[in-house]
Amino acid sequence: MDSTTGLELPEVPKSLLVIGGGYIGLELGTVYATLGSKVSVVEMTGGLLPGADRDLVAVLQKRLETLFAKIMLNTKVVKVTDQKSGIRVSFEGAGSPSEDVFDRVLVAVGRRPNSKIPGIETTGVKVDASGFIATDAQRRTAEPTIFAIGDVAGEPMLAHKASHEARVAVEAIQGHRAVFEPLAIPAVVFTDPEIAWTGLTEAQAQADGRDVEVAKFPWAAIGRAITIDRPDGLTKLVLDKGTGRILGVGIAGAGAGELIAEGTLAIEMGATADDLRMTIHPHPTLSETLMESADVFFGQSTSVFKPKRK
Ligand SMILES: Cc1cc2nc3c(=O)[nH]c(=O)nc-3n(C[C@H](O)[C@H](O)[C@H](O)COP(=O)(O)OP(=O)(O)OC[C@H]3O[C@@H](n4cnc5c(N)ncnc54)[C@H](O)[C@@H]3O)c2cc1C
Repeated sequence: MDSTTGLELPEVPKSLLVIGGGYIGLELGTVYATLGSKVSVVEMTGGLLPGADRDLVAVLQKRLETLFAKIMLNTKVVKVTDQKSGIRVSFEGAGSPSEDVFDRVLVAVGRRPNSKIPGIETTGVKVDASGFIATDAQRRTAEPTIFAIGDVAGEPMLAHKASHEARVAVEAIQGHRAVFEPLAIPAVVFTDPEIAWTGLTEAQAQADGRDVEVAKFPWAAIGRAITIDRPDGLTKLVLDKGTGRILGVGIAGAGAGELIAEGTLAIEMGATADDLRMTIHPHPTLSETLMESADVFFGQSTSVFKPKRK
């Protein structure tokens, strides 16, 4: 199955193998495991959700290890055979079984832009090597009367990026001075707990060699997380070391997707850690974890004793 057929299943499979530990595989795996399937996940790389910060993924992985039957990392699927008894799958990877049988197999190994539009070759529209249509900042293609938005116009392939681009393109067509230049585009993984991030991730900052400071706040120290029995969370800020400007926000925990919008607004408005900690947040709510992580940056969190090193 792909993700479309995976959402149309008439029955709950007894066992399900998800090939690919990305967001779609983990979301659908969570759905079926919660409905009673015995779900296993196989991922070729060394970790789930490649690209996301490891400390955020760790919060989710801990829970998935109890929800899923098996999580096989550094493991490749080398053969799939349809049999009467089910689908026999062969694996290659240290610590993984050499084969197993499943009722259903979901292939969730990434998505490609669908730019093979019949007749596109008769226009001036340019498609790059990855299949994305090249556009300018108003989403105008190399053929000036054709605009492209959404997955076909580039990463991240997310619905809210698509609709924002559409707004810019329509305004540009109407002659307004519109331009697509977000400082941050939020991403949410709708698992339980959710993982959300916006702006610069710590992993990206490290890869780019950027001098950032990371301030983390564990949810076990916040009242609201305790009262809803979800202390398994983490809120972190990626900050410019010199100015304390907020460059990125990452959250793992129940309802992280609802909380991330504040981080995106903070980045768009050029807010600093000082702005965030001086903004009064309602108590008792999970939103306090954002304010408290800003306090951690200054070594002054009231809930976590972490004095700033001189
Ligand atoms: C399982 C799954 C879960 C996802 N979850 C999320 C999520 O939680 N949040 C999020 O932000 N994003 C999510 N996404 C991504 C999101 O769906 C896409 O980023 C978004 O739909 C992109 O919008 P779009 O308009 O570019 O493409 P689409 O929504 O795919 O729309 C393109 C349309 O064009 C039609 N079409 C294609 N070729 C032709 C043709 N030749 N002629 C006429 N029509 C054509 C297609 O049928 C389709 O209806 C998810 C994707 C998947 C697969």
